[in-house]
Amino acid sequence: MAGVEAVSEDEFRAETSGEGLPPLARVRDGLHVLPQALGSTHSPRYTLSYLVLDTAGGVHVIDPGWDSDENRARLENALDSLGRSITDVRSTVSTHLHRDHLGLADHLRDRVGAVIVLHEREQAAIERLADARDRQTPGAATARLISWGVPAGRRAELEPMSIEVTAARSSADRLVSDGDVLDIPGRRLEVLDTPGHTPGHIALVDRDERLVFTGDHLLPSIYGGIGLGGPVEDAIGDQLASLDRLEQLESGQSYAVDGMFEVLPGHGFRFTGLTARVRDTREHHLARSAEVAELLGQSSGASVWQVAEGVRWSAGWANLRPFHRFSALAQTAMHVAHLRLADEKGVG
Ligand SMILES: [Zn+2]
Ligand SMILES: [Zn+2]
Repeated sequence: MAGVEAVSEDEFRAETSGEGLPPLARVRDGLHVLPQALGSTHSPRYTLSYLVLDTAGGVHVIDPGWDSDENRARLENALDSLGRSITDVRSTVSTHLHRDHLGLADHLRDRVGAVIVLHEREQAAIERLADARDRQTPGAATARLISWGVPAGRRAELEPMSIEVTAARSSADRLVSDGDVLDIPGRRLEVLDTPGHTPGHIALVDRDERLVFTGDHLLPSIYGGIGLGGPVEDAIGDQLASLDRLEQLESGQSYAVDGMFEVLPGHGFRFTGLTARVRDTREHHLARSAEVAELLGQSSGASVWQVAEGVRWSAGWANLRPFHRFSALAQTAMHVAHLRLADEKGVG
């Protein structure tokens, strides 16, 4: 990817070779990155979890990662090797509700009382998803597939995918929103709202050290996906606006003169080239939107299924397995909703 440069050779190699986990590494004094396994054979294979050592002897974990015995032990060992212990963990802050970011937070609260920090909209999304799961009726999944125009013979294989299974069920002790500063002695981390991937996704900005933690909003080698935290009015619009906000970190006058940010993403490898990666990610979404707009232009009454059939998916529509086909349909539905809204507002 032009303009994107890996900061760590180990992380770059692990991500691009698809083998092994990168080691625990120092990012800055008092800030370390710990790759936590996901038990997956394709990207993302691990979450980049960040350990902030505060100046009062405490530890704060950004995106603690998937909860497994293996990951619990890896975190304990990492803290030991840094001269701190699991009992020093004071808080966890998660960029969003997915289990591969938030999962271990509950364990850390149960075990050592670590405060769970989440964006207020993310907490609301967790509750909506839990409600929807509790009230899930067999008919609900079918109704959604029918509304997308999925042919009767193709519904059965897609129905199990309708249940949102990737959200953790945690409940936060502290809710934050845009501009809030986390309670970490000796380090100033500011919350930047970046909805799109999920409704209350956040980035964290360290302006002093020119670092930005981007969760799944901006990733170096894959696109994080949109609208994965339950239905919202216009997830595509949210994502595009969030990319604009992130880009302003480097294009803002007061920061541009002082150099580039280092991006600390939720998966893959740390990198520089924030602006280039934002532009590339934006292009990817806009290209897909333009494709959907063109297909709708040819046949305005087309169903989501019919539009999705016409989109040039990288694996090819016919080859998509149920999970990916469901996700392709959901993405298409979001682009259709985004385009209709833009149309209504007269900016389409
Ligand atoms: Zn995610
Ligand atoms: Zn993730």
